[in-house]
Amino acid sequence: MSSNTPVISIICPCYNEQDTVALFIDTMLPELDKTQLSYEVIFINDGSRDQTLSKLKSLQTEHSGIRVINLARNFGKEAALTAGIDLSKGEVIVPIDVDLQDPPELIHDFIREWNNGYDVVVAKRIDRTSDSFAKKLSAELFYKFHNKISHVKIPENVGDYRLMTRRVVSAIQQMPENQRFMKGIFSWVGFKTKIVEYKRDPRAAGETSFNGWKLWNLALEGITSFSTAPLRIWLYIGCLISFLAFIYGSLIVIKTLIYGIDDPGYASIITIILFLGGIQLIGLGVMGEYIGRLFMESKRRPIYIVEEDN
Ligand code: UDP
Ligand code: MG
Repeated sequence: MSSNTPVISIICPCYNEQDTVALFIDTMLPELDKTQLSYEVIFINDGSRDQTLSKLKSLQTEHSGIRVINLARNFGKEAALTAGIDLSKGEVIVPIDVDLQDPPELIHDFIREWNNGYDVVVAKRIDRTSDSFAKKLSAELFYKFHNKISHVKIPENVGDYRLMTRRVVSAIQQMPENQRFMKGIFSWVGFKTKIVEYKRDPRAAGETSFNGWKLWNLALEGITSFSTAPLRIWLYIGCLISFLAFIYGSLIVIKTLIYGIDDPGYASIITIILFLGGIQLIGLGVMGEYIGRLFMESKRRPIYIVEEDN
């Protein structure tokens, strides 16, 4: 069920997914066949260190409509997704995780809403009981904080699993940034969007490759890619501290005029110096974060390198 220009492109980034790819295909292909539309399933092997690539290649000989793109090394999920999006040919694209945490049967809802005239149909998790408490809490805090300080709002509990039409894909491809926070990029382009809800299942097999540190970095990426509020806030913190310092200074002057010269206060001075030193370092750190990103962007390196595509 596939032709040269398919209607649907399914985009699956894979990193160490040898245990999940076969299961994924067995679940995904029947759903795609039910749609009666032509399709391509693009697997992007993101530098896996296990047997993912050979598994994918053998599955390719068993089923038609499967493309395997092999990246030259591990570029990360966002880059792998970008590769898949760039190389897809379908009228609509659907990025999906290969671990079956995104239920393939939702594709029918996506197609229905696409036929109803929506350019973007996103899947929203109504229940995250399969995620740990810490992951749920940190995700919630991240969305709250991100949406407070960024102009582009990311809908809560929405992942990369969605349907997008070619016009949306073309808009995304006009975004040249190297550091790709896909959720933000998807939201940034806009278009008529419909949300469909689903329950998120635990991983079918294998292990998550997103530990706490990786997620923290992703959150930083998200915030610094779509907001300059952390840079601007130092203006206000600086003003507030200067104002407080002025009041405190005036009080000392008045006190000295009325009561004469006081004993020197070592404790208060050292506290203030340390406090201000800390504040300045935080400000510097935030600036460093942005300068680092500027530096990386200014190199204009490709987002990913394709080793083979067939
Ligand atoms: N992934 C990838 N490159 C990476 C890390 C992950 O392509 O460097 C893929 C992975 O194979 C999976 C998807 O991204 O298809 C989501 O990863 P995972 O299930 O580990 O994340 P979680 O669902 O826990 O957020
Ligand atoms: Mg997963």
